[in-house]
Amino acid sequence: MKIRVGFGFDTHQLVVGRELWLGGVLIPNSVGALGHSDADVLIHAICDAILGAANLRDIGFHFKNTDPQWKNIDSKILLKESCRLVREKGFEIGNIDATLCLEEPKINPHITKMQTALSECMQIELDCISIKATTNETMGYVGRKEGVNAYAVALIEKI
Ligand code: MG
Repeated sequence: MKIRVGFGFDTHQLVVGRELWLGGVLIPNSVGALGHSDADVLIHAICDAILGAANLRDIGFHFKNTDPQWKNIDSKILLKESCRLVREKGFEIGNIDATLCLEEPKINPHITKMQTALSECMQIELDCISIKATTNETMGYVGRKEGVNAYAVALIEKI
């Protein structure tokens, strides 16, 4: 099979005193995502989608969340390395389709900036990176603004 798909999911708590990084962009907000790295939930979902497509395990396998080397690290570095692993296995990344799920802030004004950052980081065209956003209609931990979820699918092609 020359083309393969992968799926990624990630979630992080939202807490006071942390920055909110989404898709490689710092989003002004009263709460931010808690995590070992910069906790960029969207990038982590995309990493898992491309790694999964190439059957290269997951982000936690390659970048242990107990390793001091990755403490507060810019997740763009993890994404760059994930892309390198996928290409090293003989694949090129086709496209990404991702969805962020959080109650606030509004994500729409930031989407072009995220696409630009991810396009540069992944070395694929901006048009190949789709980012969507939705709320959880006030239900559950996302609805209570206690956390943020991200989902991503990736298509890769053997070259
Ligand atoms: Mg994560």
